[in-house]
Amino acid sequence: MSKTPTFADHPIAVIFSGGDAPGMNAFLRAVTRISLSRHHVPVLGVRNGYDGLVEASKMDLDLLRSQVEERVGRWGMISDGQPLVLMDQPAVSGIVGKGGTILGTARCLEFHRPEVRARVVTMLEKLGVRGLIVCGGDGSLTGADLLTKESNLRIIGVPATIDNDLEFTEMALGVDSAVNTLVWAVDCFKDTARAHRRVMILETMGRGSGELARLAAIASGAEMVVTPDAKKPMTRADMDALALSIESGMKAGRSHAIVLIAEGVKMEPEIKRNRAYVLADAFKEFFERAGGPFHDLEIRPSVLGHLQRGGHTSPQDCILAARFAEAALNEIMRPGGGNGVTALRRGRIEIVPFGAPPLEDAEARSNASMHLHESLSSWEPL
Ligand code: ADP
Repeated sequence: MSKTPTFADHPIAVIFSGGDAPGMNAFLRAVTRISLSRHHVPVLGVRNGYDGLVEASKMDLDLLRSQVEERVGRWGMISDGQPLVLMDQPAVSGIVGKGGTILGTARCLEFHRPEVRARVVTMLEKLGVRGLIVCGGDGSLTGADLLTKESNLRIIGVPATIDNDLEFTEMALGVDSAVNTLVWAVDCFKDTARAHRRVMILETMGRGSGELARLAAIASGAEMVVTPDAKKPMTRADMDALALSIESGMKAGRSHAIVLIAEGVKMEPEIKRNRAYVLADAFKEFFERAGGPFHDLEIRPSVLGHLQRGGHTSPQDCILAARFAEAALNEIMRPGGGNGVTALRRGRIEIVPFGAPPLEDAEARSNASMHLHESLSSWEPL
């Protein structure tokens, strides 16, 4: 019979913050299992991102401690108003492939205030927490970096975002699952596009980055991908050029086209509408022009939205989660270990400093992906 975790064993706290990404649950399971079975150190799950830390810091410390030690694992998870939960093995059972995060995630404005962060640090120190793992995107890691400068806590960041816009790592948690979901979505749209001679314009997430759209285009066989990386905003002439290239493909025998457009694409004039709709309107005008050969072509836009965040976590993401968890725990447990962020670089997991610059070849890799996609989708004759 394993003993019940308590604060006396100096737990490692783990928090999920910002936008959710598939792989967060796999990461929580991996941290809990590896920490308990290999290091014999309890794991303190923080609910609802930095909000959970802020709420806990407002509570009476003795009350908080006794509440958390009494309601462990699943009991703690279903207790309303309990911001911290000591994890046990059953609490992470059956979650490895599930999207979202059972601990919850959130955006927390209060955490931007130094005095709020100072209160959180004091609380964590008084609870005897030996290290904090923050799993999230750019903003969450910025918050974690501030904590490293404002405390002596050992803090490890873990990149998790479907946008793959953290350029110090080749992959963040969630990207592979989101690409899988996009491939599934494109397959569905492709069936109807083929049947009806349609151009489907699908808007993907990714904020200012085109990574997700590019990877999904390569994996799904989409005919075209539009990303925000071009130095200039997209003009009507650029849109017409894309339509012309689809028209050429159709003349050469193509029956349909799938166009992926990333949500962060800039346009001129600036229009506050979903990019898929703007591009679809431009395409419609182009194909309906007098004398155009494909008047009957249907142009259908869709914004894929949050379905890209949910669903089953891919095996690759589950494996990456386990490797990130192992590296994060090793760094916290290592005598003389420091602060930093887990990163995947040339197949290896490394701990890099917070604020590490982009990988040297990040831009070159983006360009190479774009070039690869162009060749894959080209119907150039011999
Ligand atoms: P993501 O981590 O997915 O990029 P956000 O950018 O919304 O998501 O950041 C998540 C949370 O991280 C914010 O709600 C806030 O609590 C914290 N955070 C972000 N930036 C900072 C900052 N500059 N200072 C302190 N906390 C921050």
